[in-house]
Amino acid sequence: MNSLKRAKELDQEYHFMNAFADSLDSGEGRLKGYTVSVKDNVCVKGVQSTAGSKVLEGYVPPFDATVIAKCRAEGASILGKTTQDEFGFGTFNVNTPFNKPLNPHDPERSTGGSSGGAACITAVADFPHLAISESTGGSISCPASWCGVVGVTPTYGRVSRWGLIDYANSLDKIGVMGKTVKEAALLLSVISGPDKYDSTVLDTPVPDYTELESVEELKVGVPKEYYGEGINSDVEKTIWSTLKKLESKGAKLIDVSLPHTKYALSSYYIIAMAEASTNLSKFSGLRYGLQEHIEGDFNQYFSKIRTLGFGDESKRRVMLGTFTRMAGYRDAYYLKALKVRTKVIEDFKHAFEAVDVLAAPTMPVVAPRFDEIEELEPIQHYMMDILTVAPNLAGIPMVSVPCGTSEDMPVGLHLMADHLQEHTMLRAAWEVENL
Ligand code: GLN
Repeated sequence: MNSLKRAKELDQEYHFMNAFADSLDSGEGRLKGYTVSVKDNVCVKGVQSTAGSKVLEGYVPPFDATVIAKCRAEGASILGKTTQDEFGFGTFNVNTPFNKPLNPHDPERSTGGSSGGAACITAVADFPHLAISESTGGSISCPASWCGVVGVTPTYGRVSRWGLIDYANSLDKIGVMGKTVKEAALLLSVISGPDKYDSTVLDTPVPDYTELESVEELKVGVPKEYYGEGINSDVEKTIWSTLKKLESKGAKLIDVSLPHTKYALSSYYIIAMAEASTNLSKFSGLRYGLQEHIEGDFNQYFSKIRTLGFGDESKRRVMLGTFTRMAGYRDAYYLKALKVRTKVIEDFKHAFEAVDVLAAPTMPVVAPRFDEIEELEPIQHYMMDILTVAPNLAGIPMVSVPCGTSEDMPVGLHLMADHLQEHTMLRAAWEVENL
């Protein structure tokens, strides 16, 4: 059976896709034989790309994002668009009017978000498959950990974002998922590197990340702020047993402290919402997606489109984001959040003077059930991200690698490294995978 047909069959059960390509086309290159699924916020020529929002329903990009062009040039077939929270606003992939994917390990539980579809298909695909994903504040790590796959978020600026429907420009990073570290490393090698359409990409040479071998005397930092209070004790036990095994193979565990961690969540949500609220202003029902009969003045028409097209979480973020950058509140919120961000970056820089990677649980709990999520207030949704927002604020690379289970659900170990140290980080993740 061909992969497209098989993916459609699996999608009936798990709901991980928002749109399929019409057909598969493959070529020669490093990704020959692979199908690549694409998070719905990365544009694929000829395939509806909505970023999980009704406001973009019907938008079919006339071009490929740079990462897609790079995949095609290496022989990949593009399978279609995977589900996500609307514009990436969420941690459970439930904030969308479209498909809400089911966790492959227990259909009553969330896949995690916002790249839920990407993690879900990566876990269930029984054909050669890799996923293009994206993270602003943890959207690759979270679902990768809850679905039991490998998710890599590269350094900010390692991968071109041309063709990404942006959430928060100072935070967004396109990354990858795969069943194994090696497969994820392959896709990362293909999509990394300069792009004439995106001036934020670093032109540092791209190593072949698939060259995986043990790191001699690997120094693993254990940040005390990422353990203890707020972390499920059984999840923490699984993480510790992995770290102890790593130690028995010769790695050195070193206690470190990232003292500004407790401020990272508020800083992240202020910055992310401020940027999101400006980004969403381009959705006005004139140029892309949802359109209605034009009546009244511009403001009336824009309000009508946004009332119909945005979900509750997007509306909440537009309002909060606008508030934090209004004259009078700007200094107290937005500018303060930027200062905290600098402190968070300094914490990481200091830690990486002594260690190669930092290790922590990716998420504080295993994937929650949908009925539990329904009971949560918005602030409790945001608090789920306590372990992933700080490295995203700092723009450092991170990988979530499966490392055992708790309550029969997958647990992910989060490895973080200094800027552009993806190769060492992936080698460490490969060691964990082989323990
Ligand atoms: N859960 C976080 C948020 O809602 C991160 C999402 C993401 O990385 N796109 O902002």
